[in-house]
Amino acid sequence: MSKTFDALKPYLDRAMALKAAMALFEWDNETLAPKEAGRLTSKVIGILSGEYFGVVNQDKVKELAKACREDSGLTQAEKAQVRELSEELEKLGCIPREEYQEFARLASESARVWAKAKEKDDFDEFAPMLEKVIGFQKKFAGYRAKDGQKKYDVMLNDYEPGFSMEVLDEFFGAVKQEIVPLLTAVKSSGVMVRDDFLTGEFTDEQQERIGRFLAEYVGFDFSRGVMAVSAHPFTTNLHNKDVRITTHYNQNLDSSLFSVIHEAGHAVYELGIDDELTQTFVGEGASMGMHESQSRFFENIIGRNRNFWIPIYGKLQQAFPEALTDIGLDLFVRGVNKAEPGLIRTEADELTYSLHVLIRYELEKELIEGDLTVKELPGVWADKYEEYLGIRPETMKEGVLQDIHWSQGSFGYFPSYALGSAFGAQLYYHMKKEMDFDGLLAEGKVEVIREYLREHIHKHGKLKDSRRILKDVTGEDFNPQYYVRYLKEKYGELYRLKG
Ligand code: ZN
Repeated sequence: MSKTFDALKPYLDRAMALKAAMALFEWDNETLAPKEAGRLTSKVIGILSGEYFGVVNQDKVKELAKACREDSGLTQAEKAQVRELSEELEKLGCIPREEYQEFARLASESARVWAKAKEKDDFDEFAPMLEKVIGFQKKFAGYRAKDGQKKYDVMLNDYEPGFSMEVLDEFFGAVKQEIVPLLTAVKSSGVMVRDDFLTGEFTDEQQERIGRFLAEYVGFDFSRGVMAVSAHPFTTNLHNKDVRITTHYNQNLDSSLFSVIHEAGHAVYELGIDDELTQTFVGEGASMGMHESQSRFFENIIGRNRNFWIPIYGKLQQAFPEALTDIGLDLFVRGVNKAEPGLIRTEADELTYSLHVLIRYELEKELIEGDLTVKELPGVWADKYEEYLGIRPETMKEGVLQDIHWSQGSFGYFPSYALGSAFGAQLYYHMKKEMDFDGLLAEGKVEVIREYLREHIHKHGKLKDSRRILKDVTGEDFNPQYYVRYLKEKYGELYRLKG
């Protein structure tokens, strides 16, 4: 270890400890915290985030970071940490501390106002808050923009380095051009897919038991993780010995089954990060998109694959005898792969999912770079759903108020969901050349696939960005055509489409 880095390390450790504390509060907010705790907890989060700002953005740290950049004796992991720190310093250096702290408090409060407005189905109650949040985000992006860089590109870069509007316009262009007609073909195919058996009166206990089984089956380690319940499933990562997932239980069996596999996919990524990197600035997934590629890989490419269920379908039938006893494996697998336009992104099937994201991308771009106003948002949202999916939301809950992201200031986040699916498809076609993918699943050897992902992606944390990872693993730069091919092949077969 380099001496210069040695001197910097205690500051990084303090910053990481504060980050972990904030993450734990956020986790707690969504799972166990009492309803009334919100406002006072927001204050605590605001203060902690101010402390984080102070620890990182100080002269001593800047000095040490500079010395580290000039020191040739750093290891690869140390170099990467200094690179991340330098980016963080650049970001924080542009934003006055009071504004940074005020925004952290506002974002936490805004998420609560959003939740209430959603419950009451009242967009007007949330609109002023959203305007404030957008105001802050535009201001921050303006501070940070370099050489004529667009504000939305600054935001996108936070989630997915290397994917500016220029790259995304091309990606979503391909999505629009290929997926919209594919969906039309599916709808007019006349093929009916049964999925009625997935809806019923399932108890929480039944769902919890199978959820735990599935999480463990795909590689979630309960000695280094816990599973709780929240309104929307998510994963929180403290370090590679403490990764937490949540799930939800409802009357749609597939929703609870596949969200557990999805979150377990996120968790497997974080659990797989090297000990050398965990609890450091590079000790987490490479990017939002790469993270989503792993969760969606587990959920869809593995979890909705017929072979995945061969060894365990009997167990599922036993867990839900009323619903599944008479339903054979093929019927079940077809049912969980049914494509049907819906209003809710998180409930969407693989085919329509990217259209939900496309809509959000177009709206964000207009909100940040164009002249779409918050007031006009609900109407334009509904119009786009009608245009791309052929359905129109009747309520705000099922429309513009459905996602939490904008309330927290996360603009530029949504594209990573669709990119994740596309990364996953590219990895999948490559892996099929390297291993008998379906055969492994059929034999219950998910761990071979998981180990491949750990070795090639997970253990590296943030040492490389997503484009570098794709290139190193598949030998090719990001190529959205694999995703289009994957959806065409999968749904072409399921809905017996020609060509
Ligand atoms: Zn996810």
